[in-house]
Amino acid sequence: MSGTKRLEGYVYKIIRCPYCKTLQYVRLEQKSRRCVKCDRRLNLKHVATVALARTGEEASLIVRYLKAKEAGIADKLYKLKE
Ligand SMILES: [Zn+2]
Repeated sequence: MSGTKRLEGYVYKIIRCPYCKTLQYVRLEQKSRRCVKCDRRLNLKHVATVALARTGEEASLIVRYLKAKEAGIADKLYKLKE
């Protein structure tokens, strides 16, 4: 996702730590942070965006969903009806 255009309404982005692969979310304007898990400094310019969210609650739901998906239990936790 390349972001020169302003992302309407989005406040948070979901990222994955390049070192320990932990999913977490940060505010879009943040330039760096420490990973919640491995405590290494992440330069957010160079970390790929996994997803975007409008609120902190939405961001944490997305992180939880992605973690469940990776654990292979998303189908059990989230029953999606098309
Ligand atoms: Zn990490």
